[in-house]
Amino acid sequence: MLKNEFDLIVIGAGSGGIACARRASEYGAKCAIVENSRLGGTCVNVGCVPKKVMWTTSRISEMLADAPDYGFSISRNGFDWATIKRSRDEYISRLNGIYQDNLDRSNVTTIIGTAKFANKNSLQVGDKIYTASHIVIATGSKPMVPNVAGAEYAITSDGFFEMAKLPDKVVVNGAGYIATELAGVLVGLGTEVIMVLRKDRLLRGFDSSLTEIVMEEMKDAGVKFKLNTQIEQLGRKNGKIYVACDDGSKIEEVDEFIFAIGRSPNIENIDLFAAKVELNKRGYIETDKFQNTSTERIYAVGDVTGRAALTPVAIAAGRKLSDRLFGGQESARLEYENIPSVVFSHPPLGTVGLSEEEAREIFKDDVKVYSAKFQNMYYAVTSRSSPTVAKLVTVGEEERVVGCHIVGDSADEIIQGFSVAVKMGATKSDFDNTVAIHPTVSEELVTLR
Ligand code: FAD
Ligand code: NDP
Repeated sequence: MLKNEFDLIVIGAGSGGIACARRASEYGAKCAIVENSRLGGTCVNVGCVPKKVMWTTSRISEMLADAPDYGFSISRNGFDWATIKRSRDEYISRLNGIYQDNLDRSNVTTIIGTAKFANKNSLQVGDKIYTASHIVIATGSKPMVPNVAGAEYAITSDGFFEMAKLPDKVVVNGAGYIATELAGVLVGLGTEVIMVLRKDRLLRGFDSSLTEIVMEEMKDAGVKFKLNTQIEQLGRKNGKIYVACDDGSKIEEVDEFIFAIGRSPNIENIDLFAAKVELNKRGYIETDKFQNTSTERIYAVGDVTGRAALTPVAIAAGRKLSDRLFGGQESARLEYENIPSVVFSHPPLGTVGLSEEEAREIFKDDVKVYSAKFQNMYYAVTSRSSPTVAKLVTVGEEERVVGCHIVGDSADEIIQGFSVAVKMGATKSDFDNTVAIHPTVSEELVTLR
């Protein structure tokens, strides 16, 4: 094989791309990966990883507030944003290096630059042409910015991770994962946070009895909500941002305005037309259940396909694809049902399967729900408290668990184990027959009545 000829070239060295290329290489395929930015993609550089560091920072702030109730005599002498930003950035740089080492160790050739299709089986990067028997598009997504006057004064989640200091006053526009998570971090660290939602609640699509708790807890922490409101215009006055809303109201003296209203696929610069790769109605790359695009031997995985934009999903889809193409596993594919996820709110929300609303829509009167609201023992001795709600959504006479949801401290760690049970088709009696672990939050899920 010539130097610039490969069995597989992956465009994008993020979660899905790296996983796909390394797995293919393990099977002996000659692989290359093209990246035009930092290795690791969104998750490592401007997503899950720095977000989780900041979520933990905010969580520590809560625990410091609780510490005196546990008998500790402490004085809080402030919080230095620059310290945690520096440590976070250093950690990410280390990860970038580890990703390069891993690609090298797996014999995947790293090509730096922006790839675009020259035709169905070749890519142009700079002035070079690379050819492959199989090409995977794993170019991810980017934050959406609406067409609003003054949008240039706003930042997105990317800008959040560049902020050099903790802002005094922030407006967050949006209602999904990112809006909820970033607002939670900031308010926990002492910023005045106003959330502007175009509808009436956060996290639509999640079980509403749990998202109500998230909203209540965010209000208790100090977040102000402006509901059913659209942003009309942003402007700048005396170094601060002002926000004009469609109800005629204004929000003044804002340090940062964050758009967190969803993401769109990175497809502009890859010339899909040259390879006749088609998009779906939502503008994402159309793929079938095996990640095949409309063009033979071209595939897409991860955010660019617009299905469950989560890191483990991109990784699993990439690995399964390589298992199929190079590992002799003809029917390997990722099943997109029952994918667990966590919103890193304060408190966190863990979920797998159908919400009660979704289950009732599909199974009507066949649905039976078990839920409990209780106080985590952590708050037994604290003046601050935060509720936990655990919920099982079951279907049919055998009470198969089709949804498992929990909001409260530790939900982020608990849901993974329960998602195994849901994926395996566990019934309510399987949950009941499991002996509880006491005293924990998770025991409530096996003792629901
Ligand atoms: P990416 O990881 O984005 O990788 C795509 C790569 O392709 C990028 O490195 C890009 O530079 C490169 N690229 C694009 N075009 C080209 C080109 N033409 N040539 C060469 N290279 C190109 N998910 C979770 O599971 N848990 C979380 O807690 C979580 N938190 C998040 C927090 C935030 C703030 C954000 C923004 C996302 C979060 N996500 C989380 C989602 C997760 O980051 C994405 O689902 C995941 O990174 C998608 O992986 P991917 O491989 O599809 O794309
Ligand atoms: P989401 O799709 O989660 O939420 C965006 C929300 O913003 C929409 O649901 C909508 O809510 C609202 N919205 C959309 N357009 C507008 C508009 N023009 N004006 C005002 N509000 C609007 O997107 P995110 O950007 O939060 O995150 C992108 C994806 O990244 C997530 O879907 C998730 O898959 C992934 N992610 C995962 C995380 C995790 O696993 N913990 C964390 C962060 C991101 P409504 O219709 O109710 O108004």
